[in-house]
Amino acid sequence: MSSAAAGLPLGSDCGEALDALGRASRIVLSTHHNADGDGAGSEAALAMHLAGRGKHVRIVNPTPFPEAFAFLLDDASRVLPVGGQEAADACREADLAVVLDTSEAKRIGPVHALIRHLPAVVIDHHPAGADGISGIVVRDTTAAATGEMVFALLERDGAAWTPQMAAALYTAVLTDTGGFRFSNTTPTCLRTAARLIELGAAPHDLHRRVYGSFRRRRFALLQESLATLEVHESGRVAWMIVPGAAYGRTQASVEDLEGFVDVPRSIRGVEVALLFRVAKDGQTKVSMRSGAAVDVNQLAAAFGGGGHPRAAGAVLPEPMEEAVRRVVGAVVGALAE
Ligand code: 5GP
Ligand code: MN
Repeated sequence: MSSAAAGLPLGSDCGEALDALGRASRIVLSTHHNADGDGAGSEAALAMHLAGRGKHVRIVNPTPFPEAFAFLLDDASRVLPVGGQEAADACREADLAVVLDTSEAKRIGPVHALIRHLPAVVIDHHPAGADGISGIVVRDTTAAATGEMVFALLERDGAAWTPQMAAALYTAVLTDTGGFRFSNTTPTCLRTAARLIELGAAPHDLHRRVYGSFRRRRFALLQESLATLEVHESGRVAWMIVPGAAYGRTQASVEDLEGFVDVPRSIRGVEVALLFRVAKDGQTKVSMRSGAAVDVNQLAAAFGGGGHPRAAGAVLPEPMEEAVRRVVGAVVGALAE
C-alpha cells in the first residue's frame, strides 16, 4: 500500500507520525542490531531531514553503526555508542524516539530501556512480531525497504532533498532488494529508486561502494565457510556454516557476511537456504531465505525470531551442531507439509 510517485497512502498513522516529528525538538533515532543498509540508510536520511528542520538529532543503535555504511552519514549526524553516558543523556533529554526497520523491542536490545519513557514513532516494513514497541506505528509490509517508506514520508513532508539524503535512501532500497533482484523488487520500489536518482543518488557509485568494496578478509572467511556447504538429500534445502574459529584466523567480523546466504540460495533446486553462525554466549544465529515454498518468517518465529516471508532469522540458544539439526529438521518438515 505505498506509492512513491502518487498520493503516498502509508496509512492514517503517517499523518500522525509527521505531526509527532514536527512537534518534537530533540529526537533519538534507532534501528535493529547489526544495522543493514536499510536501517543505516533510513537513519542517515531521516537524521539529515530532521536536522535541516532545526531539530537536535542523535543516533543511538544497539550495535555500532556499520563501517560499510558510515559514508552515508553527514557531518552533522552524531552517532552515540549505546553503553555511554552521552547516549543515556541524549535519551533522557529527548522528546521523541524514532525506531526504523523493526518494531520489536528485543531487536533494539539495550536501546529499548533508554527510550521506553519517550513517545515513539516506529517506521517498519516487517510484519508485526511479538513484543512490539508502543507508539505511532507506520507499517507497510509491501514496501521493499523501510527506506522506501521514509522516502514517501519525506516527500509528504515537503523535504528539501539533497544528493546525500537521496543516496542514503537509494542505498536502503538497493540493499534490501539485494541489488533489485529479490521478490520485493516492485514497480513502486523502482519508481522510488528512479526518483532518488533524479534527486542526486549515483547508482554506479553506490553500487561500487556497497557491492564492489569488500575487504579481502571477507573472501578468506567465505573460503572457510564454503567448505561447510551442504545440500539436504531432498535437494530442496542447503546450508552453510561460518566456522566460529574462522573469525580469528581471518580477522573478519559479522559485517563481512553480506551475501553469504546467497551461496546456498543460488543452487539449482534449493527452495530454502540457511546460513548459520556463532552468536554470543554459545548461541547460534541462523539466516533463512526461501522461494515461494515456505514462509520462513513463521519458521523463524517458532525459534523466537522473525523477519519477512522470504527472508528471516533467529537466534537459537543451543550450540552449532544441535541448532543445525533442529532448524534443518524444521525446514524439511515444513517443506513436506
Ligand atoms: P538477515 O538474515 O539478513 O540477518 O535478516 C533477514 C531478515 O530477517 C531481516 O528482515 C531481519 O530483520 C530479519 N531477522 C534476522 N534475524 C532476526 C532475528 O533474530 N529476529 C527477528 N525478529 N528478525 C530477524
Ligand atoms: Mn529492511
